[in-house]
Amino acid sequence: MAERNCILIADASHTARRVLRAEIDPARFDVIETGTGAEAVELARKLQPVIVTVSFVLPDCDGIDVCKAVTHCDANVGTTVVMITSNDSDEDRHRAFEAGAVRFLPKGFQKGDLSAYVDAIVESKSRLIGARVLVADDNPFIRSAIAQLLQAEGAEVLQAADGVEGLKLLHANDIDVVLTDYHMPEMDGVNFVLAIRKVREFQTLPVLFLSGADDRQSRIRALDAGANDFIRKPFEGMELLARMRSFARLAELTKALKAEARTDELTGVLARREVLLRLDELCAESRRYGSQFSCVMLDIDHFKAFNDTHGHAAGDAVLKSVAHVIKGSLRQSDHFGRVGGEEFVILCPSTPLASAASCAEKVRLAVQESSVRFEGKLLQATISLGVAEFGDILSDADYVLNAADRALYDAKRLGRNRVCTFENGPTPETLPLQAALAH
Ligand code: GH3
Ligand code: MG
Ligand code: MG
Repeated sequence: MAERNCILIADASHTARRVLRAEIDPARFDVIETGTGAEAVELARKLQPVIVTVSFVLPDCDGIDVCKAVTHCDANVGTTVVMITSNDSDEDRHRAFEAGAVRFLPKGFQKGDLSAYVDAIVESKSRLIGARVLVADDNPFIRSAIAQLLQAEGAEVLQAADGVEGLKLLHANDIDVVLTDYHMPEMDGVNFVLAIRKVREFQTLPVLFLSGADDRQSRIRALDAGANDFIRKPFEGMELLARMRSFARLAELTKALKAEARTDELTGVLARREVLLRLDELCAESRRYGSQFSCVMLDIDHFKAFNDTHGHAAGDAVLKSVAHVIKGSLRQSDHFGRVGGEEFVILCPSTPLASAASCAEKVRLAVQESSVRFEGKLLQATISLGVAEFGDILSDADYVLNAADRALYDAKRLGRNRVCTFENGPTPETLPLQAALAH
């Protein structure tokens, strides 16, 4: 069993081990000590500690070799190696980075330094936990090195060998951040990011470039194509992770904002903008694949009277209740949102006019039979609905909306609390009335 809350200290000096141990909160971590490199590697593999501190000099081997062995061991993908350097020279740092260490601490560190490090490591790990990262690189070694680094911080990593594969993975998975190489066969990084930005839902997806191409021109091309950042290879693990954490946080905030923007604040159903975007998508799909869909526009009857008689808050309560009732009587695949004060739209995919009209009738009945209690009074509302099917003549979002609105106007004109369809005119139950009006 993996001990995730364990810290391993590898140092030949008993005194040094004691100083290190004193920095770690025993309530949060089990601390294991060893004086040799060989035992450190073995214990790390077995215990899978969250952190291993390794001294540069060990009696049986070089600390760098221990670092290498630990970071290259599959069992230790979740382990961070902290190298305890004696002279904290650039050369030491460089060697340690190459061996896979991403953190350092000079031997004469101040009290509290390691514990702050431990907190930062544990906290930063949690920031990437659950983040889904797509790594696109044609070099499988670099891909898996990055994957290891990110997985050690708790991220979920998907790998692609080029942009084409990357796009497929993006469509099939809910990815938070993309890390892409510049030069790749099939589809290079610039074309990959251009293709990403063409998709509406990917427009705010953070995309970072990782490339050996360090000339200014490449960086400008990548950023102009829509990338958010550019990291040079060979990359420094700590910086890469810091950037990933920052972009994972951005992705999280953007997600929350998007969800908020999609939703109408009062009723909790889709907001106007989202309904119109989905309508555009249905139109595009219909043109491409010849799929059918219908649009229902509806409006609460004499809604103004609720406001006038019982106050605005009563009007709001009616709006919420009606929205709730309608949502409850629709299919999961239907799109339903508020497009105006007391106007709503239902989009019914794969639904011809007649079926959409019966859906509208079902909705009308459900609202008619419902009521909402407000300050001791029972308020009952009815709705009028207009239905139109997307097709040869109504082959545009505006046309189909206007047609549904025209049918809604007919329903209002013919007495409200009814369904009318565009072209076919009123539904059978309202036909006698229509005939009477025609004379
Ligand atoms: P009709 O049957 O012809 O649709 O009549 P109506 O009274 O429903 O239509 P009208 O368009 O005259 O009035 C709509 C009213 O809805 C006017 C406006 O003040 C009110 N309204 C719009 N948005 C809100 C809202 O968010 N809350 C409340 N309480 N009222 C709203
Ligand atoms: Mg109304
Ligand atoms: Mg209205």
